[in-house]
Amino acid sequence: MTFRDIDINISKETKSMLKEVEKFSMEVMRPAGIELDRLGDPEDAVKNESVLWDVFKGFREMDLHLLQIPKRLGGMADDLDPMAGILITEQLGYADTGLTISMGVSSLPFDAAAQFPMPEMQQLARDFCADKSGEMVGCWAITEPNHGTDWSLGGNKPKCGPSVTAVLKGDEYIVNGEKSEWVSNGTIATHAVLHVGLYPERGMDGQGLAILPLDLPGISRGKALDKMGQRSLNQGSIIFQDARIPKKYMVIPNPDFLKATTGQGLANVNGGMSIVFAGLAKAAYDEAYRYARKRIQGGVPLFEHKNIKVKLMQMFTMVEAARANARRMAMYNLENPMNPSVIHAVAAKCLSTETATQVASDAMQIFGGNGLAKEYPIEKMFRDARASMIEDGVNEALAIKATEFM
Ligand SMILES: Cc1cc2nc3c(=O)[nH]c(=O)nc-3n(C[C@H](O)[C@H](O)[C@H](O)COP(=O)(O)OP(=O)(O)OC[C@H]3O[C@@H](n4cnc5c(N)ncnc54)[C@H](O)[C@@H]3O)c2cc1C
Repeated sequence: MTFRDIDINISKETKSMLKEVEKFSMEVMRPAGIELDRLGDPEDAVKNESVLWDVFKGFREMDLHLLQIPKRLGGMADDLDPMAGILITEQLGYADTGLTISMGVSSLPFDAAAQFPMPEMQQLARDFCADKSGEMVGCWAITEPNHGTDWSLGGNKPKCGPSVTAVLKGDEYIVNGEKSEWVSNGTIATHAVLHVGLYPERGMDGQGLAILPLDLPGISRGKALDKMGQRSLNQGSIIFQDARIPKKYMVIPNPDFLKATTGQGLANVNGGMSIVFAGLAKAAYDEAYRYARKRIQGGVPLFEHKNIKVKLMQMFTMVEAARANARRMAMYNLENPMNPSVIHAVAAKCLSTETATQVASDAMQIFGGNGLAKEYPIEKMFRDARASMIEDGVNEALAIKATEFM
């Protein structure tokens, strides 16, 4: 054991649930993540025979897609110890962050649907809970080729508004434009949470929110994105060409109402990211510690050298600070869902992603040349961590946005 977990008051049930998650994450997700990472063509990662689908199936069979949905719709949210959800998320991030994000995002439209009283939305959440094979896959389509950080910062400049627009005609919205190749699960999603421009004169602030199936006429996809980190996470663009979207799918047609929920959205997304990447930071530390105990230089294990001891202690300190901070923030926000603390969530996202990147880089230094070799896990962890400081909003932009909630 390299780590003594000092969080107390974890129930027996939570501990045994975590053991199951640990087994699945390390025996199925970790190797699948490595296999997907090494594929030359990201299109291969989503073929029928890909291990990606074993992960989806395993995740659903373990009911891990039910954590945010209330019991009355088939979910587990009411019964779950909040700390259990946090520890599960951290463990999944420990195993493979790309796949953890893919699984998390795949639930997003359905978790969101459960919050709306309309019968179609409630049914969508029910259908998702019943899906044990991984056929229903969600995505969050917000970024556009010409608007990335603009979505994080918002604003009411008419010249800087969403490129994907929706115009109401009778009982349908006519949607045109493109969501960028950075949409996670973009080429495999069956459903989306979609941000669209409704009032161009209000710029980014004139947006509405739809939850919709993606098999409607006029909706097509781009190619799977080839990228540096989190290669196990499928990403790709979604294109709308005179797509006719029934009015009932526009769950928030009022931009002022959507703006009022910005804080909750930021708290949820950043909160989740902070836990996932605290998990990756711990994984990189554990690898470095194990390696330092085994690798002999100067006739003794690396661990016997003072510089390595000091470096490992610094890494341990950073990892524990990120984990403790993410857990504390997440517990508070889970207990205050209507008024979560946005600044704590954004601070935790920035701390965890920056810690994961620094610790993975330090681990690479301890591994020496082997840190760069594909045979060892560190170079992938470093690439996965580096992506997180841009993912779901560049850290600097999130920090600027968070000051609105100080
Ligand atoms: C792994 C990963 C997963 C992702 N998943 C999703 C997803 O599921 N759905 C989705 O829609 N998107 C997703 N994204 C996209 C992500 O949200 C965007 O990449 C991010 O918001 C930044 O946008 P951009 O890449 O266009 O960078 P830009 O907006 O072009 O920013 C480039 C640089 O300029 C700076 N900058 C930009 N504008 C300003 C300004 N006004 N003032 C000062 N500085 C500025 C930024 O801080 C940044 O350093 C994902 C990205 C990654 C890396």
